[in-house]
Amino acid sequence: MEDFALNIADVRARIAAAAERAGRSADEVRLLQVSKTVPEERLLLAIQAGATDLGENKVQEAKRKAENLADQDVRWSVIGHLQTNKAKDVVAFADEFQALDSIRLADALDHRLQAAGRGLDVFVQVNTSAEESKFGLEPADTLAFLEELRHRDSLRVQGLMTLALFTSDTERVRECFRILRDLRDQARERDLIGPGGLSMGMSGDFEAAIEEGATVVRVGQAIFGARSTPDSEYWPGFAG
Ligand SMILES: *Cc1c(COP(=O)(O)O)cnc(C)c1O
Repeated sequence: MEDFALNIADVRARIAAAAERAGRSADEVRLLQVSKTVPEERLLLAIQAGATDLGENKVQEAKRKAENLADQDVRWSVIGHLQTNKAKDVVAFADEFQALDSIRLADALDHRLQAAGRGLDVFVQVNTSAEESKFGLEPADTLAFLEELRHRDSLRVQGLMTLALFTSDTERVRECFRILRDLRDQARERDLIGPGGLSMGMSGDFEAAIEEGATVVRVGQAIFGARSTPDSEYWPGFAG
């Protein structure tokens, strides 16, 4: 038995409670429902239960689903590492890309977007955990990167995104979120970051992320159930 409506309601209640603890409004936090590995038939049930904002790690899988579910009113976010030669696939269907981490990729996306006459919401991914295995910019390089992005008009920079350290030590997890928030604050002071969103927090740590200022949480397993695919599929080198 799957009850997506119940799971979504439960996650929303936890979002609201975390926001309240932090003196924030739950309306400030967007729930991105991460549907990787979930087949279209199940996704359709989730959409009927109210899912409208779907995140996928891999562009091929995302594109296939967006095509098969083209008659549904959903917004698609690509949240995983992208090779430059796949830029055109993102431009073909995605509403948002959350893992921008190189100028080469920014140029490839900008080029394709200009040709298609459209823009794209993007988040810049930062490696806040200092793990070799994680994608994303070094924190120290992030402001210069944002500065450079300014001239790519088709890329609408919405904020920063990160994956925290995978550990049960919540203080170290929070430290990653704070690094992202501090960078966002610095970028804001320099007027480099549009609305200055913070995409951080997943099933295991989204409440802490909200307490630290997240404006987008990316939640998969708490809604769709445990995945059988190991996370090393998505984060090379990840041992857990
Ligand atoms: C899979 C994934 C998530 C969601 O992880 P869950 O444990 O399913 O909540 C968040 N962000 C990224 C980049 C992902 O690939």
